[in-house]
Amino acid sequence: MQHDRSVTVIGLGPMGRAMAGAYLDQGYAVTLWNRTPSRAAELVRRGAVLAASPAEAVAANEVVVLSLTDYDAFYGVLGAVDPAVLAGKVLVNLSSDTPDRAREAAAWAAERGAVQLTGGILVPPSGVGDPDSSAFYSGPREVFEAHRGTLAVLTGGTDHRGEDPGLAALFYQLNMVMFWTALSGYWQAIALAGAHGISATELQPYARNALDLDRFIDFYAPRVDAGHHGGDVDRLAMGLASTEHVLHTVVDAGVDAALPAAVVDLFRRGVEAGRGDDSASSLVELLKKN
Ligand code: NDP
Repeated sequence: MQHDRSVTVIGLGPMGRAMAGAYLDQGYAVTLWNRTPSRAAELVRRGAVLAASPAEAVAANEVVVLSLTDYDAFYGVLGAVDPAVLAGKVLVNLSSDTPDRAREAAAWAAERGAVQLTGGILVPPSGVGDPDSSAFYSGPREVFEAHRGTLAVLTGGTDHRGEDPGLAALFYQLNMVMFWTALSGYWQAIALAGAHGISATELQPYARNALDLDRFIDFYAPRVDAGHHGGDVDRLAMGLASTEHVLHTVVDAGVDAALPAAVVDLFRRGVEAGRGDDSASSLVELLKKN
């Protein structure tokens, strides 16, 4: 097959494998490298080339997509690559880590004449290659624009948040703080339901309803930005009582209570800070201070 587009993918966990597969689906020439080479087998069968070293993988293409566990792995893989090989490369780093770690890595790349586009992808492997999926990017806009087509193979939506290489990581972590906290609540509910013989499948429609928070987000966002935490719709003291009812229900069922206890603690601190007659959104002010 004749390829007019090519890309390197480094890191073949579930995400990297899905990314390499999406490029193959679109007719890209794909070069791979992974610490555990056996994970490349299926992709090689489909036409990808497995490089013998990270340097060989980087040398193969201008665009190098990295899908590693974290930035320690990034340095672990690229640290030994000759800077002359890295020079001129675009490192699309879709590995998760903190904004500061993303900024450090962008500076590290720049010292070697490479450019990092920081990425944060918002879908599981099954969503990679989907036109409706999206990812955050940050770093030099002209580099982002020049490679937008290649990035859009991974997720149809590509949201450039700004030049600061930390921004994509920040927006990704903003997503994840909500995602993991909400999902933990879901798992807590399944455990509680299970203690009463109710299956996750029976809970399914109610969970979908409970976790659809759109109208709360739309209601609170402008009020919070305006510093308006009036207790006209909900009172934090009511919220504390409600969270205590949740905790007691969980304890009565003999289910692990660490998560609901942490929520009660947060609400109680808000009430103790004198916010009992304000909205539960006033917890934002408490949370701003460590
Ligand atoms: P995994 O952690 O399963 O795999 C990532 C890759 O990192 C593997 O190829 C692994 O190599 C490699 N790796 C880890 N440590 C090192 C190291 N020290 N040296 C060399 N290679 C290393 O991650 P996923 O594929 O699930 O995800 C990749 C990134 O995408 C992560 O940052 C994750 O947070 C993010 N993400 C994941 C999603 C998901 O649903 N899975 C969704 C959205 C984002 P080896 O195969 O040899 O172990």
